[in-house]
Amino acid sequence: MKNEYSSYLSQTAKEIQPSGIRKFFDLAASMEGVISLGVGEPDFITPWNIREATILSLEQGYTSYTANPGLLELRQEICKYLYNRFSVQYNPGNQVIVTVGASQAIDLAFRAIINPGEEVLIVEPAFVAYAPLVALAGGKPVPVSTSPENGFKVTPEQIEAAITEKTKALLICSPNNPTGSMLTKDELIELAKVMEKHDLIVVSDEIYAELGYDETFTSFAAIDGMYERTILINGFSKGFAMTGWRLGYIAAPVEFVEAMLKIFQYTTMCAPHMLQIGAVEALRNTYHEVEEMRKSYQRRRNYMVQTLNEIGLDCHTPGGAFYVFPSIRSTGLSSEQFAEELLMAEKVAVVPGNVFGESGEGYVRCSYATSMQQLQEALKRMQRFVESRKMVLQG
Ligand code: PLP
Repeated sequence: MKNEYSSYLSQTAKEIQPSGIRKFFDLAASMEGVISLGVGEPDFITPWNIREATILSLEQGYTSYTANPGLLELRQEICKYLYNRFSVQYNPGNQVIVTVGASQAIDLAFRAIINPGEEVLIVEPAFVAYAPLVALAGGKPVPVSTSPENGFKVTPEQIEAAITEKTKALLICSPNNPTGSMLTKDELIELAKVMEKHDLIVVSDEIYAELGYDETFTSFAAIDGMYERTILINGFSKGFAMTGWRLGYIAAPVEFVEAMLKIFQYTTMCAPHMLQIGAVEALRNTYHEVEEMRKSYQRRRNYMVQTLNEIGLDCHTPGGAFYVFPSIRSTGLSSEQFAEELLMAEKVAVVPGNVFGESGEGYVRCSYATSMQQLQEALKRMQRFVESRKMVLQG
């Protein structure tokens, strides 16, 4: 062996940057008494009926592989759910794959459609995994920036301006991580016209579909003419409070699914059997719990938006997910400085906006998937921090 390990690593592995969110968590985890608004996961434990069904499945010995795309029973439930909730119709036999989290579903989608050098438009600020996954699939991520003036929503004109002859697809995430913005049906219709005109594929990450507060969620696949060109990504992590289960799914036209299934069967074989049985129960009997969680997030969102604005951190009202994305420009600090100094001075962990792309600079992401009591304490500390910055700025 040579001394330098890097000579053994692939160029791609060397070029991929570790997630900026993780870096911050590790720092916060090493300190005592930190309130974390950093985590992008529900503070609820998975509803009991789902856990119970899974325990029972283990007792009954369901420990084998399932069919590659997942249990037929689960795919049937997924199709019923997508139809009943969002009016999109898929065939459980050949249009659905149950994946290891939505994360894997996104990876499969890119790997199935991207040829070397092809471009994927990513609406920014964006979930940290998109750009690296496009790059790992051999493509080029092309950011399209949004701003609070537009409610962090991308416009058809912006998309049109970013399209080149190499553009293959648009990645859309609504409700959005990290900004929480949620596109209306009319806004999706306008974007659809551009997709049609330039013959682009849409990878629609709908993982926060259950967490919309002011408008009814519309799936991109439900927009006229978009079904044929949409790879729909969803999962159980957020709406059903099942992050640790690592269960997501893809629904798409047959040809896309066949291509993704070839990759999936060699890399993963299938999602864990007993957890898929839990997921069947989640889709059959958890409507009430999901709705209660949604209402609870909505109360917290309202509290966060109002209080952040009151303490001098301008914050637009996000329509969904469980994040707020306030501007920290009034403090004179960069996003990283703000997050670091807030953590050191007041032991509150937030995520610097620049980890979600350049257009996130000047903002921080605060997750409100934590108890109201914790949120109140966190915002008290943030207020103290902002006041202290005002004193510094006034000299
Ligand atoms: N997509 C978005 C927008 C996310 O925020 C996340 C997780 O934070 C994921 C996908 C990944 O979800 P999963 O836990 O199902 O892999």
